[in-house]
Amino acid sequence: MRFEPSMKQAVIRRTARRFSEEKLAPIAAEMDVTGRFPLEVAAEMAALQYFGLVIPQSFGGAGLDMISYAIVVEEISRACAAMGLCVSVHNSVSAYPVYEFGTREQHEKFLAPLAKGEKIGTFCLTEPNAGSDASCLETMAVRDGDGYILNGNKIFVTNGGVSGLNLIFAFLNGSGKSKEYCVFIVESERRGLDKGQVEELMGMRGNPVCPIILNDCRIPAENRLGEEGQGMKIALSTLSGGRIGIGAQALGIAQACLDVSLRYATERHQFNKPLTEFDAIKGFLADMATRIEAARLLIFRACWLRDRGMDHVRESAMAKLFASETAVESARYGLQIHGGYGYSKAYPIERYYRDAKVCEIYEGTSEIQRMVIARTLGKRS
Ligand SMILES: Cc1cc2nc3c(=O)[nH]c(=O)nc-3n(C[C@H](O)[C@H](O)[C@H](O)COP(=O)(O)OP(=O)(O)OC[C@H]3O[C@@H](n4cnc5c(N)ncnc54)[C@H](O)[C@@H]3O)c2cc1C
Repeated sequence: MRFEPSMKQAVIRRTARRFSEEKLAPIAAEMDVTGRFPLEVAAEMAALQYFGLVIPQSFGGAGLDMISYAIVVEEISRACAAMGLCVSVHNSVSAYPVYEFGTREQHEKFLAPLAKGEKIGTFCLTEPNAGSDASCLETMAVRDGDGYILNGNKIFVTNGGVSGLNLIFAFLNGSGKSKEYCVFIVESERRGLDKGQVEELMGMRGNPVCPIILNDCRIPAENRLGEEGQGMKIALSTLSGGRIGIGAQALGIAQACLDVSLRYATERHQFNKPLTEFDAIKGFLADMATRIEAARLLIFRACWLRDRGMDHVRESAMAKLFASETAVESARYGLQIHGGYGYSKAYPIERYYRDAKVCEIYEGTSEIQRMVIARTLGKRS
């Protein structure tokens, strides 16, 4: 058992940290206020292959292992959670399923532009009446000659406002039968696909999360990902990887909370002492640091299993659950350490507090992660 990163993983962390500190940290607050997604910075990230992290080099990706992927997502999220969300969703629940379940033709046509960052991807599962329960989708696909016609409403689509390719989950004929659950790759410019207003969110405000509406949107059969009936399998297998990404994102936010809180507690004096001299503050910092380290280990373990093609459903759920709750707790402790200043917009801890919360909600709420974990208990050693 080895606990140190490989030389390559250490270089990847250094590069991602330098890039994030130079290019993302300075614009993160502005993205939060204006909601502007910086396409020019995304282009620089594409040049670093951050949009095809685990996709093989033959398709324009970086061909990295999952641990390296988690490291990059953590470092980006530490500087700018909204951009960490973009990279995590694009890589793990949009590009990766196209790689895993796509045909050779789909790899050329759809995967290569995703991996090169020429197109940003989405994962469109959630609907107004289908959230935690992804089996009750109302989006419907009807066969039409050599293609399909799609109708339905997808909501809370991360990257929606800037997406080029969208994975749409739907039932054939609206049957609700698992053997008719399908996934389709739909180009944003296709007639019948419309994007709604970007959501006014509490946090992650730099990511253009929006609804995607399908209104008699006709697509050719070659845009179906996997076979008819494979939709639930694709959703579940994709989310197992996705949860590692959200865990890494939460970890980055938690680490940022610790970084700024330690700095503040060192600089701020009360009772003629820096805050770091008070036992209560030391306790907050120690708890944050311990939970962060534990979250990182859980994430790396889930990555390690996934890289070896081993079952990682339980471990990725544990990593996501624990890292998300660590981010929320670290933001809460961090804000407390900042006192009244933490409640103002003068310090970034206020943004971290808002950004952290959603990690407990998307790609399966904490309650759903606990359900997934409990279901696996006793099933294997
Ligand atoms: C910023 C943001 C970005 C998002 N991005 C995407 C995206 O890119 N693609 C996408 O498809 N979706 C996305 N989502 C949607 C997200 O995945 C859902 O919000 C989430 O899965 C929960 O679904 P829901 O909101 O309908 O809540 P519900 O399912 O209605 O749940 C409400 C509450 O009930 C609890 N609950 C539900 N079922 C159970 C149960 N069986 N046992 C115990 N408790 C239960 C939940 O844990 C929660 O506390 C995003 C959401 C947000 C806020």
